[in-house]
Amino acid sequence: MEYLKVSHAQRIVLDSVATLKSESVALEASLGRVLADNILANRDLPPYDVSAMDGFAVRSADLPGTLAIVEDIKAGDNPKVLLKPGQCSRIMTGAPLPHGADAVIRVEDTQQVSTDAVQINLTVQSGNDVRFRGENMRSGDVVLTAGTEITPGVIGVLATVKCAHMQVYRKPSVAILSTGNELEAIDEPVDPNKIPDSNTYALMAQVQALGIEPVLLGIARDDPAELEQYLKRGLEYDVLLVSGGTSVGVHDYVRPTIEKLGVTMKFWRVAMKPGHPLAFGVLHRTEKIFVADAAQDAFVFGLPGNPVSSMVCFEEFVAPLLRRMMGNLRLHRRTVTARLAHPLKMKPGRTEFVRVQLTSDDKGYLASSTGTQSSGVLLSMARADGLLVIPADCTGLPEGAPVIVQLLDGTEFQNETGYIE
Ligand code: AMP
Ligand code: MG
Repeated sequence: MEYLKVSHAQRIVLDSVATLKSESVALEASLGRVLADNILANRDLPPYDVSAMDGFAVRSADLPGTLAIVEDIKAGDNPKVLLKPGQCSRIMTGAPLPHGADAVIRVEDTQQVSTDAVQINLTVQSGNDVRFRGENMRSGDVVLTAGTEITPGVIGVLATVKCAHMQVYRKPSVAILSTGNELEAIDEPVDPNKIPDSNTYALMAQVQALGIEPVLLGIARDDPAELEQYLKRGLEYDVLLVSGGTSVGVHDYVRPTIEKLGVTMKFWRVAMKPGHPLAFGVLHRTEKIFVADAAQDAFVFGLPGNPVSSMVCFEEFVAPLLRRMMGNLRLHRRTVTARLAHPLKMKPGRTEFVRVQLTSDDKGYLASSTGTQSSGVLLSMARADGLLVIPADCTGLPEGAPVIVQLLDGTEFQNETGYIE
């Protein structure tokens, strides 16, 4: 099988998957989910013309002048007096404008000359400091469209239109499995001949960062029968992430065992560094015997065992798949342009993802390598703000060269990958 370009492999992954069905969720639990329906305004807001300031409601044609104060209007009051020429009403922010008034003057711009008169020495346009009826939203307006990610601002809008429950796309169920005879579980005593299992937890956190609580299946030994038992369990979930054992070593049983269980392998080699070998397969489900039957098909990633490789593959392939399942329209990490803080030498042939730290100066972002880029050195990932993406044909870059960096922290995503491979 050929080495696939990153973008080609991403297309295969994303074309295999559809958005899940929707479910109802309470407003309080909706942060980070994606709306499955359009949301309509249920009334005009503000419901009438209101003051934007504490001050005086006036007839703009009367200004400048000394005006008689005929009423005191607070938020929630119903104004009773119609303003005649030479009259004004004291008004609070959010209170309805009295009939006859067409503008508001802030209290700071007025001088009170007696208990019932105020002097205003400026002129204003009609509408000054007035919030007009329906300016915020009009009854029946689509205020939020399906596909919108629920942010704190969106939650505010949902509360405004009294949406205490709403339809959002379901989350996929995700299982994580580590493989390898050399692996030591976190609760086992330290054995100097073993390798601590970090992939289970780094992948767990990457899944959690997308708002999904994964199931940890533990460690399967490099034994076909044991592996088969674990993989069978893993395939009950919508998405199974297996790390290690996907290469071409004689004890790399993951791919043949997955295939034996009915999974169709779509690819297993991608021209990226770190990253290959990365395998991706689909299990077409026929029976509903699964832990969660949200998805029609189950998806399996055979991630590289090397800790950095497995995390980078998650970012480039697994996260976009999970986000598409949850209805997100923006699937890829946000990218920024930066300048390289030092020269970089590259071997051409594969798209490289270099772990970098970002600083900024008056010319923008500056990217510098987090140190040794060996795919086994997880600290390079722990220290990274982003992944600098280097096209496959690049042999090196000088200091100051403009580069694309995919941001690793935060929750910002975009439609396209934003990099050239
Ligand atoms: P493999 O893909 O199984 O050949 O593993 C490649 C490298 O990654 C080996 O050095 C493994 O020891 C290491 N490795 C595999 N799985 C894990 C894991 N869960 N945690 C940490 N390192 C791992
Ligand atoms: Mg292994």
